[in-house]
Amino acid sequence: MIPGPVEFDPEVMRALGTKTASHVAPEFITVFGRALKRFREVCLAPSAQPFVVAGSGTLAMELAVANLVEPGERALVVNTGYFSDRMATLLERYGAEVVQAKCAPGEAPDVAEVERVLAGGRFKVMTVTHVDTSTGVLAPVEALVKAAGRQGVLSVVDGVCATAGETFHQEAWGADVYLTASQKAIGVPPGLALLCVSKRAMDAWRSRRTPVRSLYADFAEWLPIMEAYEAGRPAYFATPPVNLVYALEVSLGQILREGMEERFARHRRMAQAFRAGWRALGLKLLPVSEAVTANTLSALYYPEGVDAAVLGRAREQGVVLAGGLHPQLKTRYFRVGHMNVVGPSDVLATVGAVERALSAAGHRSEPGVAVAAAQAELLAAR
Ligand code: PMP
Repeated sequence: MIPGPVEFDPEVMRALGTKTASHVAPEFITVFGRALKRFREVCLAPSAQPFVVAGSGTLAMELAVANLVEPGERALVVNTGYFSDRMATLLERYGAEVVQAKCAPGEAPDVAEVERVLAGGRFKVMTVTHVDTSTGVLAPVEALVKAAGRQGVLSVVDGVCATAGETFHQEAWGADVYLTASQKAIGVPPGLALLCVSKRAMDAWRSRRTPVRSLYADFAEWLPIMEAYEAGRPAYFATPPVNLVYALEVSLGQILREGMEERFARHRRMAQAFRAGWRALGLKLLPVSEAVTANTLSALYYPEGVDAAVLGRAREQGVVLAGGLHPQLKTRYFRVGHMNVVGPSDVLATVGAVERALSAAGHRSEPGVAVAAAQAELLAAR
């Protein structure tokens, strides 16, 4: 139950074991083409350009930055934690002039304030982390990307810990780039960087004055490949991760069969049940309010007298949890991921294991109280 890599569906794991075809074999071209179309549907961005490239989420971030920002251009990083820091580092590496709208850990940005900064700033791009995995904060992305759109600024949304788990309507909201990785709510083992890029952002890339500095990250290399696969034609730039693409096609098929709205709603229901359990245990969430709390993971302060050793106790109880990640608070909290195939039984098993682990660490509560609270929430939400 860590915030990625998560548990994967057996059908997806079986697809990984498919005999590896040539990357230009007709059967593989069909699968890759279908995966691209499905990813576009998952982002709810019918006219955007999807990219699927071998690499992790960091590469997806790098593709966005390398292609959309030229040296000397200005970028606003809406910073909610560890992965926003990484975005700022990347932007600086590519020569951008970076301004940051920083939030205290657990806080979400104030949209009016961000828009005020955008208005006077001659920015080319604004970046925002949809769910910051280090704090469990859900940013108000709809309002932020709309504000960027009003100010004529391209918006780049890091959805690594959110895509296919948190509500997101790329085209309706006007987000220019939605980027993610395979190993979280997309439901495929690590190794794929995925991006969906709006027409406006593709045009911005086309009108660059300077070449993209990275060869592997250059849209100029990848766009013909993605277009060819979608059109059912063979193409080669760099060998695609054939088996991961097989798995992706299966997982995206499952996601679309569930339906995006139902999938977002299920993640919300499970998160609410988890939160009922945490409340019953007297645990405090890092995010400052329910409105800015992610549905894909819980970041929880250790209660008085308990430290990271409790994670070992949880493991003994059969549940793997993650430690803290935010540089300022790392040792004071832990994280529970709830993405992809998570269902009611996972909620109850996890909440129960956390209760037993806390009890073994000396944090007592009435036996079963957290499981009962989570169960009540699950029953009420049906
Ligand atoms: N952004 C966010 C929000 C993330 O959670 C992560 C990974 N946890 C990344 C970016 C980087 O992804 P990766 O580790 O796959 O490079």
